[in-house]
Amino acid sequence: MPGFYRKKRRKTGPSKNDEKVQRGREAVAETHAAGTLTSRFPGVRGVKVRIAVTSPQGVVLDENEDVIGPNDAFIIQTDCPGRCGSGSYEFAETVAASLTKLEEHGTAQIACVEPLYGGGPDKCGCIAKCEFEAEFSPS
Ligand SMILES: [Zn+2]
Repeated sequence: MPGFYRKKRRKTGPSKNDEKVQRGREAVAETHAAGTLTSRFPGVRGVKVRIAVTSPQGVVLDENEDVIGPNDAFIIQTDCPGRCGSGSYEFAETVAASLTKLEEHGTAQIACVEPLYGGGPDKCGCIAKCEFEAEFSPS
């Protein structure tokens, strides 16, 4: 009778800790790539951002508010809390376009088009709404 033994499954991929370090590095790199609020928009003193994510059924899944100060990186994004498990919403360029036009406030909306986790033909369908209010320096 042939012996049966289970091969020890070696964990592949980065460990939790490595991932954290990696994410930290990415965040730093992103900050550099994005630039600070002042470096991109010298006339803007601060931007208050509110992002709310709702499921396709209209349930609010996530809501957060953030204030970007002059020395903060100009990053406006949030991960999708929906069933895709991988989506993210990126509002920085939309808001940047408004700030360039000296608009003090505005809204943007993005739908998550990531497929649902585990496959299937459906898209995630969560919707993120972003509201922002900018404070311009008096000139
Ligand atoms: Zn999603």
